[in-house]
Amino acid sequence: MPKYMSYTLRNFRSIPQISKLPNDFVFDIEVVGHVLPFKVNSYVINELIDWDRYEDDPIFTLTFPRKEMLKPHHYKKIASLLKRGASKDEIKNAANEIRFQLNPHPAGQLKNVPKFKGKELKGIQHKYRETVLFFPSQGQTCHAYCSFCFRWPQFVGLNELKFAMKETELLIDYLKAHPDVTDVLFTGGDPLIMKTKVLERYIRPLLEADLPNLKTIRIGTKALGFWPYRFLTDDDADELLRLFEDIVKSGKHLAFMAHFNHPRELETEAVKKAVERILNTGAVIRTQSPVMKNINDNPEIWADMWKKQVSMNMIPYYMFIARDTGAQHYFGLPLAKAYEIFRGAYKSVSGIARTVRGPSMSAEPGKIQVSGISEINGEKVFVLNFLQGRNPDWVMRPFFAKYNEDAMWITDLEPAFEDRFFFEEELEEILTGNGL
Ligand SMILES: *Cc1c(COP(=O)(O)O)cnc(C)c1O
Ligand code: SF4
Repeated sequence: MPKYMSYTLRNFRSIPQISKLPNDFVFDIEVVGHVLPFKVNSYVINELIDWDRYEDDPIFTLTFPRKEMLKPHHYKKIASLLKRGASKDEIKNAANEIRFQLNPHPAGQLKNVPKFKGKELKGIQHKYRETVLFFPSQGQTCHAYCSFCFRWPQFVGLNELKFAMKETELLIDYLKAHPDVTDVLFTGGDPLIMKTKVLERYIRPLLEADLPNLKTIRIGTKALGFWPYRFLTDDDADELLRLFEDIVKSGKHLAFMAHFNHPRELETEAVKKAVERILNTGAVIRTQSPVMKNINDNPEIWADMWKKQVSMNMIPYYMFIARDTGAQHYFGLPLAKAYEIFRGAYKSVSGIARTVRGPSMSAEPGKIQVSGISEINGEKVFVLNFLQGRNPDWVMRPFFAKYNEDAMWITDLEPAFEDRFFFEEELEEILTGNGL
């Protein structure tokens, strides 16, 4: 039975495959791992990474820090501290200073915390009318960490930035007071890092409350990619599947939102069995991933990934554009490139796999899809669309931005044919609290 062995900065040198890598390379992991989140496990090491070509291996890059992920001056700073044997505190302070420069809460995440009965609900984000995000306080870590993760402040000890909440009671009250909400999305970190007994404490009361407006329970997780044994051989795997069954039996839709970044993650026996077991509970698995340089930046990878997902009975759901945070200079792609990758992949698969939406930016005003690159009256433009908007009425009203080959985010774009994007004035009102 595979045992979960986890490695961080403290013990990664004891990974057998690491001891065979060049010293410089290992030192780089140590330098960068002081700043970016770093945690990997025995499944990722033994079943996903191809160690014969680790330098180009997408899963290695996904989970191991490497030199190029820090800007050269940041790298130098930490490297020199380590080389001269600086104190732990000195290194930690320098690392924190760098982290704060890496935009730890992009796209105004901290602004989506609702107030309820005079209290700030720190563990809840409510941005789009139908869906509430819930961050159970014990689900704020993962089975391994993605080096591109935008939730990384939660893992590196910047606790004042951490969203968390214990009280399911408050969540239930909130749902009762907001009858428009149909979906609760359990997210993190990874909520499936929790023991089933703990997860149950959040979910069972929600089922027992029998809220007529609550139709869908979503669980956002990377456990299928990083630790499929969660559903197979972990002590409480069977209990977890029973909980899933009970959600379905209660008449709610259980939407299992699986995070996969590369087709490799779909190829092991363990993941195939885990997917089958989850589907047998009546849950539906939908998949999502950001598109990232050095991991999955070509259409063949995406087409392969979507096809494999469909053949395993999963539904491709979202392609995201990498957010401006952490190692963005290493992972980020221009919007134009992300769009070409999406289109290249989309046009090569059958309609069954074209359930995927994207490429999409989760930005301050909403989820904005790059729907096309076009020419209107001789002007080259991006065609954009809201897939989700802070005001639901913004959804699917095409709007245009001047084409810009290098733009990586909505904030890099200028409106075409008008002075402001159609939503900007209303967005300001919403953000200053006068709207909605
Ligand atoms: C993506 C997202 C949702 C869910 O959007 P769907 O399109 O319904 O999947 C909800 N809340 C936030 C903050 C999101 O980013
Ligand atoms: S699984 Fe999700 S939350 Fe966890 S490190 Fe990866 S991107 Fe971040």
